[in-house]
Formats: sequence, C-alpha cells, structure tokens
Amino acid sequence: MKIFVIAEREQPVSELCAGARQFAEEVDLVALPTTQVVDGVADKVYRLEVPEGRMMEDAYVALANLIEQERPDAVFAESSRRIQLLLGRTAARVGGSVISNVNAMPGAKEASTMYFGGLANRKYKGEDGTTSFFFVRPATFPDAEPSGNNVEVMVPFVEPSYEVKRTEVGPRVKGDVDLPSAKRIVSVGRGIKEEKDLDMVRELCSLIDAELGCSRSIYEAENWLPKEALVGISGSTVVPDLYLTLGISGQAQHMVACDGATTIMCVNTDPYALIFEHSDYGSKADLYTVVPRMIEYFKAHPLK
Ligand SMILES: Cc1cc2nc3c(=O)[nH]c(=O)nc-3n(C[C@H](O)[C@H](O)[C@H](O)COP(=O)(O)OP(=O)(O)OC[C@H]3O[C@@H](n4cnc5c(N)ncnc54)[C@H](O)[C@@H]3O)c2cc1C
Repeated sequence: MKIFVIAEREQPVSELCAGARQFAEEVDLVALPTTQVVDGVADKVYRLEVPEGRMMEDAYVALANLIEQERPDAVFAESSRRIQLLLGRTAARVGGSVISNVNAMPGAKEASTMYFGGLANRKYKGEDGTTSFFFVRPATFPDAEPSGNNVEVMVPFVEPSYEVKRTEVGPRVKGDVDLPSAKRIVSVGRGIKEEKDLDMVRELCSLIDAELGCSRSIYEAENWLPKEALVGISGSTVVPDLYLTLGISGQAQHMVACDGATTIMCVNTDPYALIFEHSDYGSKADLYTVVPRMIEYFKAHPLK
C-alpha cells in the first residue's frame, strides 16, 4: 500500500503523514513551494516545481504524471484552496474519485463524512486499482505518529495546455483569521446583538491572545465576520487549548467542529442551552456583563 500526502501547513503535513502511516508501507509527501515540510514524516518528499509567477494549480500535469507513474492507492490532502484547485484538475486527468470533508478513515480507501448537517455519517469506499483522493479534516488521526527519512525527489514543472493567469492581486478586505492552528479561540453567536459589540470581544481576544471565531448566525445571517471565522461543519474544525463561546446555543453543526478543544467554556443566558452539555465550565450569565468584567480583569492581570 502506498499513500501520497499533499498539504501546506505544518500541522496537516504531520497529521496526514501520521494517518497515512497507519495504513501504508510507503508514505510520500508531495510538497508545493508553500509546504512547510516537517522532518521525518515521509519516505519521499516530492518537491513539485512551480515557476515564479505561475499559479500552483498549473502544476497538475506534473502531479498527474507522477501519480500515473507511482500509482499510489490514495492521496490524503489538506483542504486548502490551492490544493483543492490543484487536486481537482489532477483527479480529473487521472480519473480518480475525490471525497471531501472526511472526518474519519477506518481504512486507507474508506472514508466517512458528515451528512444531514452532522446528524448522520456517510461512508465512501475508493475503487481498488485506482488512486482515490481524500480531503481530510483536522484531528482525524489523533493518535497516529509519522515516520520516514524524507528522501528528496524533484518533480520538474510540465507546461499545461492552458495557463491559469492571475489578473489582479489586492489586499484582503476582511479578516486574517487562522482558526485551525489557534491555541485560544473566543467564538461569538447570535447572543451578540449588534456588529459594533464585536469590538469588546476583539478587545478581550487581544488581551488573552485568542482568535475570534463565530457560529453560522454571525457569519451567514449577519455577515459580520468572514468565512474563515466560521466554526462548524460548513467552516473550520478547531482543536485549541481553550474554546470560549459567547452567546452560542451549542447545535450539533457547530459543536462537532470544536468538541476536540482541550477546554470548552461558555457564557449563555439560557440555563437549558445545549452548550452547557459540551462545556467544561459554563456561566449562566449575560455576555454583556461577563465580557466587560473579563476585559477589566485581564487589563489588571495581563497574561504573561
Ligand atoms: C446543513 C447545516 C450546516 C450548518 N453549519 C453550521 C456551521 O458550520 N456552524 C454553525 O455555527 N452553525 C451551522 N449551522 C447552523 C446551526 O444549526 C445553528 O443554527 C447555529 O449554530 C446557531 O448559531 P448560534 O448558536 O449563534 O445561535 P442560536 O442557536 O440562536 O443561539 C444563540 C444563543 O445565545 C444565547 N444568548 C442570547 N443572548 C445572550 C446574552 N446576552 N448573553 C449570553 N447568551 C445569550 C441564547 O440563549 C442562545 O442559546 C448549520 C445548519 C445546517 C442545517
């Protein structure tokens, strides 16, 4: 059994290589120029060449050729935008099935994804004799360990039949959130009454060095925060040390993506809210009372 891993950030590189090692004798990492390669995680590291100024997805011909030559049984991938574009084109060329949003892998070619908004699971099996592509969510392989000698192999760029052209580059308008690697997250929900009230939560976040996340009510219904801040089956899965929710009810579609946090705390005025069942510590209180007090406290007692 041979599995390729393709990822960009350090954590998914390690996690996916570790998960692949549970099933495969050979685990090879395909590294983009942006990949943070971690020592000792794979047998080979295929360095995919992308010339300066070219889009990453244009490397799909070289990657498809590599897959056709090496015939991995599966590719485990981080769901970054670049990798989605690159693997979509690669899979179309080699004829492999693509399964996204995977949250459990009982076998190298068997995957489970959430269905009905997280109330049910759907199972998939990749066809034998083909390469199957799985986009795997964070924390799918909690107990696995990566290993390997990371033998470097260069994969030269192959010109595709048409080039993806970048027509404009501009600053990001909203948010620069990196929830999946955050150690502390304060997440806000419908309990926040007005957009301007996010300012006090942002102040709290800066005092405790936390990222700001949200429920779908705040991202989609109100559009007060960017998609990157959404926690849940439609957004990011997070595994911080601390997950503090303010005015979030605790519906399954939100909680399945943050239940892996080491400590969950909540502030909610409704003593029967589901969130209390998921929380290690809970305050049955108004967030408009609690947050200003927390700000006052952390101003007087700054974190070291
Ligand atoms: C297919 C599908 C996918 C979905 N994907 C996601 C997803 O990825 N992420 C997600 O979050 N949701 C998702 N949802 C929506 C989800 O089902 C819930 O509707 C949503 O999470 C509720 O958001 P909320 O907790 O902010 O709002 P509510 O459920 O309205 O809860 C607000 C809470 O705030 C409390 N509150 C009110 N005022 C205060 C106050 N002053 N102080 C303290 N507490 C207060 C209330 O008691 C209440 O418990 C999805 C739904 C479907 C069907």
